[in-house]
Amino acid sequence: MQTIQSDEIKRHAREWGADLAGVADLELIRGIRTRPEGLLDHFTRAVSVGVRLNGPVLDMITDAPIPLYAHVHRVANQLLDSITFHLAAFIIERGYDAVPVPASEAAVLAEKLDTKGKDSLDWDPLTSSTLPSKAVARAAGLGWFGKSLLIVNPAIGPRFRHASVITTMPLTPDTPLKSRCGACMECVNACPVQAIRGLTFEGVPPAREEVLDFPRCRETLWLTFKNIPGVGYPICGVCMSVCPWGKRKGSPGG
Ligand code: SF4
Ligand code: SF4
Repeated sequence: MQTIQSDEIKRHAREWGADLAGVADLELIRGIRTRPEGLLDHFTRAVSVGVRLNGPVLDMITDAPIPLYAHVHRVANQLLDSITFHLAAFIIERGYDAVPVPASEAAVLAEKLDTKGKDSLDWDPLTSSTLPSKAVARAAGLGWFGKSLLIVNPAIGPRFRHASVITTMPLTPDTPLKSRCGACMECVNACPVQAIRGLTFEGVPPAREEVLDFPRCRETLWLTFKNIPGVGYPICGVCMSVCPWGKRKGSPGG
């Protein structure tokens, strides 16, 4: 087996198109819900990669997603799947196990599902995933959990999408970042359905419902925003677009 340094893996991820890359110690998220159950049992690390979303498109979003946002969202997912596919193959060639986790299973399901005129759906298959990418990204030091439950990076805010490769390669893990949301309430005030409760917390959020009215958010995305002509995806972009960390470098108050 050939040992590879974390920096080399991150360099390859950047060469293949990633803007952000980090390594998570899976002990930090051991016990998290996966599909299939026990997916992480064999693995010790995850490489989390991020692809930046187009800033000018995000700046056009006011209170609902626009078709251009659906486009950049879709292409970012494709790029992420390509990067994680390459990364997993690269690791396997060096004698370790590695599995790429899909960037967006919800997007694939959404394309096959007509939600027009519906007032509810069978939510569990739509909102569960192989491995929650946000928890991996946070453990890999890509950012902190914002009040919106998006991962917020100090350089590009929440304006990126992320995906991961789980692996047995003994890479040196990165350290999770502390929250820098502070007193900011931009996403709380901007949410079109007042789903973000504005709770201040450190590290991993307490029960999701304490931070976000998740049913209200998901119903808005799947039953309303997905049906905006030209969108077709359960996406929003509002809490992502307003975060001060994505608009400029520096603190929200600075
Ligand atoms: S994604 Fe949209 S609806 Fe959901 S919390 Fe963010 S702003 Fe609100
Ligand atoms: S908008 Fe403000 S509160 Fe919301 S995630 Fe960004 S920094 Fe945190």
